[in-house]
Amino acid sequence: MASAPPEALLRNMVSGYVNCLGELAAIAPSIAEKAAMELTRRSDASPQPYLSDVDAGPEPNGEIFEVDGKPFAMPARVLDASQGWAMFFVDTEAANRSLGAARHILSAFDAGGGRTPLMIVGVDYRNSDFGVYPEFVVALTVTVKDDPARQLFTHYLAIVVTQEFTKEAARIVWGLEKIVSPKLAVGYAADNVLFGVPNAKGKALSIRFPRFGDARSSDLPTFSISQRGAGPERRTYWAMTTKSGSGEGTQIGGSVILELGTSGDGLCLCADGKSVCVCEMLRSFDIADRLPAANGWTERQTAIYGPARLLDFRR
Ligand SMILES: [Zn+2]
Repeated sequence: MASAPPEALLRNMVSGYVNCLGELAAIAPSIAEKAAMELTRRSDASPQPYLSDVDAGPEPNGEIFEVDGKPFAMPARVLDASQGWAMFFVDTEAANRSLGAARHILSAFDAGGGRTPLMIVGVDYRNSDFGVYPEFVVALTVTVKDDPARQLFTHYLAIVVTQEFTKEAARIVWGLEKIVSPKLAVGYAADNVLFGVPNAKGKALSIRFPRFGDARSSDLPTFSISQRGAGPERRTYWAMTTKSGSGEGTQIGGSVILELGTSGDGLCLCADGKSVCVCEMLRSFDIADRLPAANGWTERQTAIYGPARLLDFRR
């Protein structure tokens, strides 16, 4: 691709992880490689087949949990946020290794050539049911073993936040284990935004996203996978997040700057002593000195986070 891809064609990539691949496939096969051919054929890239199994899971809407002694209603709302994201293609074998225990049920999606999409997302929540805080997310595209439809889902490798409430909510509602690191900060400049550990000298975990765009999007769905419950009660769930935004920009291979600290130097986002070292995990993917395949920014974002629904292939 010699010329910059049209903004219009990239618009749907902003929050749509799976959509992103489809759009890339349409406009930049050199980047998405075989993913292009694979994904443009997959018009069924939504978990529609599982919707009939709603009865088998928790109530899809109107479900109320108790978080920190207070009622927490589903679906949960984000009324104002900003978001930056960068997508890298990483080695599928490395991606599978990073799944850990989840590898029993998940497989890293091979988008072609042994490469799997990995997403780094920074979100600045200014008004949401989860609280007011920044978030740093690392996620892979996966399929679920034995899924005849080979539906693509987002699997979270790490979600770092600064507050206990959102961690508690995510664990109760979806079974997701967020990492609490009060050091995580977001910093705005005129043309870029940095999520990570502020550090004047040396390298600390951070990602700097270009801040640009004037496009809009509405109700773009993404689908995530998680597990909830202990022992024999542990089950796999999927959930839908719908995002809308304005002030959005997307581009191929933008000037995203990812820096990594070193395990134990206090300049990472995993100092709770029990979580995965985010820096070491990212280092295993060999992306710190690369530009992303694609990246984007949303200045004003709203979102609806749906409840966990039991994933059940029997029908
Ligand atoms: Zn670390």
